[in-house]
Amino acid sequence: MTVNKLTTGNNTQIIACPQCKASVKWSVTNPYRPFCSNRCRFIDLNGWVNEEYKICNHPVSASALCDDIKDC
Ligand SMILES: [Zn+2]
Repeated sequence: MTVNKLTTGNNTQIIACPQCKASVKWSVTNPYRPFCSNRCRFIDLNGWVNEEYKICNHPVSASALCDDIKDC
């Protein structure tokens, strides 16, 4: 691994991925932050969606409708 950047140290903050607890550079160049990867980001997103399904108790096909109603 080679570090070519002149600015090392203060500009790079290391955080823990909320999903897998891996060390992640908090950087504007990381589109998945605070996650380490798109996979972890997707897993987390999927978790939220699943929670909504549980709360709403609707089939997956009705999720869009459910999202509009909000009182289900
Ligand atoms: Zn991760």
